Amino acid sequence: MKRVGALAALIAATLLVGCNQQKGVDATRIERGAAEEWLNYGRTYDEQRFSPLDKINRGNVAQLGLAWYAEFDTDRGQEATPLMVDGVLYTTTAWSKVYAFDARTGAQKWSYDPKVPGERGFSACCDVVNRGVAVWGGKVYVGTLDGRLVALDAATGEEKWSVVTVDQSKPYTITMAPRVVQGRVLIGNSGAEYGVRGYLTAYDAETGDKVWRFYTTPNPQGLPDNEVSDAIFAEKANATWSDGAWKHSGGGGTVWDALAYDPALNTVYVGVGNGAPWNHRVRSGGQGDNLFLSSILALDATTGAYKWHYQTTPGETWDYTATQHIMLADMNIGGSVRKVLLQAPKNGFFYVLDRTTGELLSADAYIPMAPESATPAGMPVSWSTGEVKDGRPVENPSARYAKSAALVSPAPFGAHNWQPMAFNPNEGLVFIPVTTAGALAQVYADDPAFKYRDGGWNTGINFNLGDLPSDEAQRVALKAMLRGRLVAWDPAARKPRWSVELPSFWNAGVLATAGGLVFQGAAEGALHAYDATDGKKLWSYETTNGIIAAPMTYALDGEQYVAVMVGYGGAGALSAAPLLPDRPRLPGRIMVFKLGATAQATPYDIPPKPVIDLAGVSSRGNVAAGRSAFNANCLVCHSPNASGGYLPDLRRSANLRDATAFRSIVIDGALAANGMVGFDRYLNAAQAEDIRAFLITEARRQQGLDAAAARAAPKK
Ligand code: CA
Repeated sequence: MKRVGALAALIAATLLVGCNQQKGVDATRIERGAAEEWLNYGRTYDEQRFSPLDKINRGNVAQLGLAWYAEFDTDRGQEATPLMVDGVLYTTTAWSKVYAFDARTGAQKWSYDPKVPGERGFSACCDVVNRGVAVWGGKVYVGTLDGRLVALDAATGEEKWSVVTVDQSKPYTITMAPRVVQGRVLIGNSGAEYGVRGYLTAYDAETGDKVWRFYTTPNPQGLPDNEVSDAIFAEKANATWSDGAWKHSGGGGTVWDALAYDPALNTVYVGVGNGAPWNHRVRSGGQGDNLFLSSILALDATTGAYKWHYQTTPGETWDYTATQHIMLADMNIGGSVRKVLLQAPKNGFFYVLDRTTGELLSADAYIPMAPESATPAGMPVSWSTGEVKDGRPVENPSARYAKSAALVSPAPFGAHNWQPMAFNPNEGLVFIPVTTAGALAQVYADDPAFKYRDGGWNTGINFNLGDLPSDEAQRVALKAMLRGRLVAWDPAARKPRWSVELPSFWNAGVLATAGGLVFQGAAEGALHAYDATDGKKLWSYETTNGIIAAPMTYALDGEQYVAVMVGYGGAGALSAAPLLPDRPRLPGRIMVFKLGATAQATPYDIPPKPVIDLAGVSSRGNVAAGRSAFNANCLVCHSPNASGGYLPDLRRSANLRDATAFRSIVIDGALAANGMVGFDRYLNAAQAEDIRAFLITEARRQQGLDAAAARAAPKK
């Protein structure tokens, strides 16, 4: 007995030495993926978001309670997945701020504010969000909204190095979580709605020196970039582009979210975004596939060299990115175990690819799709019939809106957006947060008058035809039709096994655990736990805020925790507010749960909606012209018809009362520090007044609705 004890002590001592020498996170540690930890955005390099922890399980999840929480200083969207390393929880908030907490107690260890200029918010299509950090060695890495990549000391939050990864004179942003592969930090960027050229860069994790860069669209000057992407563009990709606005806009193809890594194949998998402008006719004369837009790219992890690609939407013209979550798995497909890559991009197909060769194994519609001849009159036409021939989707011809406007499904939000999926290998199921359970669609209309506007919203689409119905009852009916769905998809059987209907389409990321649980938050505020086998709801916690981020889990001292970033926002909340739950703007929180915990969160102070006095207020502006100018300039952040909006509701803004105050904001940029830059580049003073006239009309209309609602409400 004594000898065994001594041996055990020796092993323990060796392990301790090993730990002390480890100096943080390395490749082995991420690849091993110890159950207790969460060391990478999608937990492990395969990005499955599956935790082997099962202390919290079907049998006891009902006893889950709040262990601790912390509140942040921003009420914008929270999309981060926290990481847990050596007892410390690292997360980011809107405006790219980084926080480190004691993962047991919630005590804050440090915070870091990169001081992103507020004006940069103007270039962020989809809120000033950030999806989290990467960790490597003793450092923590964050990409900032203004395009920097910053390395921080993991122990203190002190800045170790910082590199500018983009041309900051262009409307680039970063919202994605970096990943660290082979001691290089991988980071892409966003901005294709405004006009940028996408790429992925690898930086040395120790020094910040650039190692390689892969561009996803051709060089607009027709010159080599002297980067690793040059060879494949010369050989194959340049020829897939024709003359068009891409030469001004850079073509888009931003790498803004999905990355996965297979160490055995030495391959990094990259999700590539939509075209800039969206409209294929405007962008590339309606000609060519436009590689590598809307593609999955496989690159050599060491050199960045091209290996293969699969394009999900050739000749992309609907904002159908393939930046959605890419996960890797080894699955039994047709009787043999295949190394596969799984993706459910915006275009509504669930793809299973052989990740060694890029061979398409299957592509199946995970939302309803049908030939246009089978689409009932008045209903949206799906962009594809749902079939794939020779590796290419079969399109419904009218969906390309070349001859006339078309109401097309999915909308630019996609059938699935950035919200992470999760995989349960025991069940063989991928859980997809699907947006399109109802008729989520968009009127796409060619804009023959399109002119590229430097730094502005450049889609080549006329959004005036996409206005909401003017009748309030029709708006309410439309909102009721638009639902989301949590789909448990069986990639081997190529069909869903179960699904849960969600009240709104803009929903939240997912976590799967070996406890047989699927965790997902809701825009309406609650965090839910479902049974992975049948989707039965087993537990809920009401945050009274909204959740869009994906939960994560970790264990310390044998105790399992579930953490989630709480805070509503993102693209849906900004640009489709009237079709989504009306959520107050509340400060973000991180909330952490464990079995039997009974902590209570301080209830939010929910501010009443502002009421403004419009008596005697008038404008000489032209309402119809103001509506057009609003749709072309303001809609993306303030929603169609100014009808609601997670950002300040312009129909309730006291600044409407005064033409001078309004102009100082819209033209002169009086609120630039909040992200509302001056629009003097795009609008003149007369147009600003037209917009004010339109907003006064909408404000009066809303006041009428508010008064009717107050009369109808039961007296207290
Ligand atoms: Ca986009």
